[in-house]
Amino acid sequence: MELVDWTPPPCPTCGADEMYHKLVSHIPSSKAFRTLNGWYCGKCHAGAFQLGNVTESDAVRFAISLINK
Ligand SMILES: [Zn+2]
Repeated sequence: MELVDWTPPPCPTCGADEMYHKLVSHIPSSKAFRTLNGWYCGKCHAGAFQLGNVTESDAVRFAISLINK
């Protein structure tokens, strides 16, 4: 799942304003949740970055809220 409308900061690596959030795992205890969830750059593909005030737990709740609509 990719979440694209959170207005993240620009890419820390290349400065492009093309960041998107990727939620790889919904399971907080999993390695993928800790290492792969976060912001990725659409231009240079750097990531995952933990940016802004959105925690990965918030991301999971947001994703679930979308699924339940
Ligand atoms: Zn970049």
